[in-house]
Order: sequence, then C-alpha cells, then structure tokens
Amino acid sequence: MAKVICITNQKGGVGKTTTSVNLSYFLAKDKHRVLLVDLDPQGNASSGLGVDKSTLTASMTEVMLGAAKFEEVIQPTAFKNFEIAPTTPQLANAEVEMAGMKGKFSLLKNVINGVADEYDYVIIDSPPSLSLLTVNGMIAADYLILPVQTEFYALEGVAQLLESMATVKKAMNPNLRLLGVLATMYDRRTSLSAEVLAEVKKYFKDKVFRATIPRNVRVAEAPSHGVPVGAYDKFSKGAKAYKDFAREVEERTSE
Ligand code: ATP
Ligand code: MG
Repeated sequence: MAKVICITNQKGGVGKTTTSVNLSYFLAKDKHRVLLVDLDPQGNASSGLGVDKSTLTASMTEVMLGAAKFEEVIQPTAFKNFEIAPTTPQLANAEVEMAGMKGKFSLLKNVINGVADEYDYVIIDSPPSLSLLTVNGMIAADYLILPVQTEFYALEGVAQLLESMATVKKAMNPNLRLLGVLATMYDRRTSLSAEVLAEVKKYFKDKVFRATIPRNVRVAEAPSHGVPVGAYDKFSKGAKAYKDFAREVEERTSE
C-alpha cells in the first residue's frame, strides 16, 4: 500500500514543487516505487521533469473530471522507479467544474486508491492556494509535508493551513498527519534565515526536519534541464540536502 504524501503550503514560491520533484527522485533512487502527481495547474513539476505539456492527450485535468483513466495519464520519467501523472493549465478550469461534481472532495483519493498497490510512495504537488484541488490532495494523503521558506513572513498563513488540515482530518480523513516542516532556501550568510528557522522550530518543535535545504543555484537551474538536482549535479549542496531529507521521510513514514 502506497504512503501518500501531499506537499502543501498556500503561500507561493516556497519550494513545494522543488521538494516534490527532488523527494520523489531520491525515494526512487532508494528503490521505492514512486508516483508524483502534479496537482498544480501551473504544471511546474511536469515541466521540471521534461514533460512536454503541449503534446499530452490526457492529464490530471481529465482524470479529475472522470474523463480519463489515471493509468492512461501516468508516464515514466527518465529515472527508474519514478513515474509522473502530469497536468495542464486547463486543470484550473476543471477545478471550477469539479465544484459541481458529486463527491468533489474525494476525486483524487478515489483514483489514487485504484493504483495504491503499485507504488510505495505517491507524492502530490499542490497549488499555492487552499482550493478544492488542495483539499483533494489533503483528503487523498496520509501525510502532509509543509515546506517553509526561511524568509520574512515564513509563518504567515500557516495557522490557516493548519486549520484546514484539522477540518479535513475531522470531517473526511482522520488518518491525516503532519509528517514534518521543511525549511527551504536557507541562506547561512544572512542572520534572517537563522532567525526565521529558530522561529519555525519554536512553533513546530520536533516536527521540523533535521535537514534544511540551502539556497543553491544548482537547485534552481535543474528544472530548466528537465531533471531533479540529484541528476543535474549530485555533488551540489542542494542535492545532498534533498537526499538527507528523503532519508528522514523514509524514517518518519516507517515509524
Ligand atoms: P508555487 O507556489 O508557485 O507552486 P512552489 O512553492 O512550488 O511555488 P518552487 O517552484 O519549488 O516553489 O520554487 C520557487 C522558485 O524558487 C523556483 O524558481 C525554484 O527554482 C526556486 N528554488 C526553490 N528551492 C530553491 C533552492 N533551494 N535554492 C535556490 N532556488 C530555489
Ligand atoms: Mg509549485
């Protein structure tokens, strides 16, 4: 049975997609069978893995509307054990249609249940909003990972996110748990990063992963080459940090 992890934070640009892609890559490298679900209409995870969205005949957009089978849209990546369910920008319109559908909160959960035996991990990359898509991600998930950028306002909106999580847990998904909080884009040259990390640790205590992802240009460059940083420059600080982080995720999900 796959462990389903939704990477979420309604704040934009905090490293959700980067974390989804690189976590998936390192879990797959550790011989887990991984499916990455791109649930963000921006489709950054899809393009960051070299998927040409213009050639897709079906994607998560159709899957969410029940117009395509999940198995039909899942495709291999260039990496062993690592598959992706890509999306298109039309997923944004589909979300409006989804709002009128029966069982609109459990659409993703139902399709993931259908393939859960074929994977060890399903990683969901979610959009920067607390929208119906994100709620679908939370309802489908066993765990949430919250990436926070170590910048000013890092914790802004976090209370609201935790509230949404609590609501989902109570109403639809009692098993949902916060797996941990990941500090991203950490810049050790600035005292701000250290101050924000201290604040995040004060708030989340041992929920904060030991691994911290540094601000690293190789991490930012990798998507334009259609690969995770571990494949782009495995000796970079960013790759090393994501590898350590993936190990922690393995540990925490096997407890
Ligand atoms: P959105 O909310 O728009 O979906 P996101 O939370 O998914 O954004 P990313 O797309 O992963 O965030 O990252 C935002 C930007 O920061 C991207 O350009 C990405 O390449 C860059 N970035 C992410 N992590 C790092 C890092 N550790 N070092 C340097 N740049 C990074
Ligand atoms: Mg993103």
